[in-house]
Amino acid sequence: MSLSEFQIIQRYFDRHLCEREDVQLGIGDDAALVSLAAGEQLAIAVDALVAGRHFPEDTAAEAIGHKALAVNLSDMAAMGAEPAWLTLALALPQADEAFVEGFARGLFSLAGRYGVQLIGGDTVRGPLTVCVQIHGLVPQGQALRRAGAQPGDRIYVTGRLGDAGAGLLLRQGRLRCNDEPSRQWLIQRLEYPEPRVFAGLQLRGIASAAIDISDGLLADLGHILEASGVGARIDAARLPISEALLSCVPDAVQREQFALGAGDDYELCFTVPPAMEASLRERAATWACGITCIGTVESTAGLRLSGLVCGKPSLQHGFDHFAAGDTA
Ligand code: ADP
Ligand code: MG
Repeated sequence: MSLSEFQIIQRYFDRHLCEREDVQLGIGDDAALVSLAAGEQLAIAVDALVAGRHFPEDTAAEAIGHKALAVNLSDMAAMGAEPAWLTLALALPQADEAFVEGFARGLFSLAGRYGVQLIGGDTVRGPLTVCVQIHGLVPQGQALRRAGAQPGDRIYVTGRLGDAGAGLLLRQGRLRCNDEPSRQWLIQRLEYPEPRVFAGLQLRGIASAAIDISDGLLADLGHILEASGVGARIDAARLPISEALLSCVPDAVQREQFALGAGDDYELCFTVPPAMEASLRERAATWACGITCIGTVESTAGLRLSGLVCGKPSLQHGFDHFAAGDTA
């Protein structure tokens, strides 16, 4: 059944599930109106997801809705910001009600868990593209930045690395795994990433720099190092690997490549001064995702890897949409 643009908005997006007190005007006018408390800064991020590019064309609508918001919540986490409001620009090839219903279910169930409210957007016809903009709140001057890492700081990551990279190959039939629960787990990590929002909030005042891992550990840690004007040493033997990745990828070299180079995990990578490590461990004890120390910041520029399975890195460094040979 085909719906008009206004029916789609009314039926699926103008749902007052989360009514925040700081929203004066939500969906329905020419713009939304929100209020900001004194001493708060706005953190704003936007991410566009294009079908066939950022997710396989046959991805479930619910997973697309979840992930479009999750990647933005992950940016808030990396800034230590508390996500508050989102806007959604949606291009749909056709007004497919089943798709919109599933998409909205995925988006709203994640939004509800983090108390973020959809306050506006745009709905147009075009190749399937989902663009979510998120607005978060952070006390003045307390945002976590990529710049700020100092020599001697310890480098940590949340959760496990490489799962989503393996999930993508499984999803595309380019990797086989007979262990069905592990296979499902890795695909779940790709399609329903859990943004580390609470970890990000608790890293305020503790982390000296932070980033979320969307393009792969080496690429994203590289951004911290560049922004901070420092280098680092990583011990590859300490990379946190999930049981599922161990089971589905028996080759240790390939596992290491997933953990170092594959994107889409949406874990946090952050640096912590040695004096803050005890506080970090205390706070992180309550985080379900856990944390792992994988290395140390050094004054000499560049990233040095020790403990590699293969002895030398033969890695695909993170993902770059405009890299040579990458045509889309
Ligand atoms: P305008 O022409 O002023 O841009 P629209 O007709 O595009 O207004 O949208 C009407 C209202 O619905 C606006 O408040 C807009 O923010 C909201 N809206 C449109 N599409 C979406 C969407 N996909 N999700 C949430 N709100 C939407
Ligand atoms: Mg509009």
